Amino acid sequence: MTTDPNQIPLTTLEPEPAVTCSTCAACCCQLEVILLTDTGVPDRYIDTDEWGGDVMARLDDGWCIALDRDTMLCSIYENRPWVCREFEMGSAECLEERNGLSTIYR
Ligand code: SF4
Ligand code: SF4
Repeated sequence: MTTDPNQIPLTTLEPEPAVTCSTCAACCCQLEVILLTDTGVPDRYIDTDEWGGDVMARLDDGWCIALDRDTMLCSIYENRPWVCREFEMGSAECLEERNGLSTIYR
């Protein structure tokens, strides 16, 4: 049997990582989250933006204060803001955020 020198052995190909929140470093939880409706976010997690609107408070490093830093999961999932509910896994915005933090996946 002859071997094509230009052919990449299958074993060297890395599979595309699946886009799921469970394998993501919660990239979208560094975005500003405006509170448009009352979903029961605890007051201690709410900040005021420069226009007087309610937003999720963020820590100095940019991450949402409600993000559990051990699990990188939302600690108020049942009460998460509407904006977070609408941010669709696998959407263009999601992929953009993941690519922005792509060094995490290397
Ligand atoms: S929605 Fe996208 S960016 Fe946000 S945690 Fe899930 S996979 Fe990561
Ligand atoms: S409220 Fe939860 S889902 Fe929304 S940005 Fe904060 S940690 Fe992420």
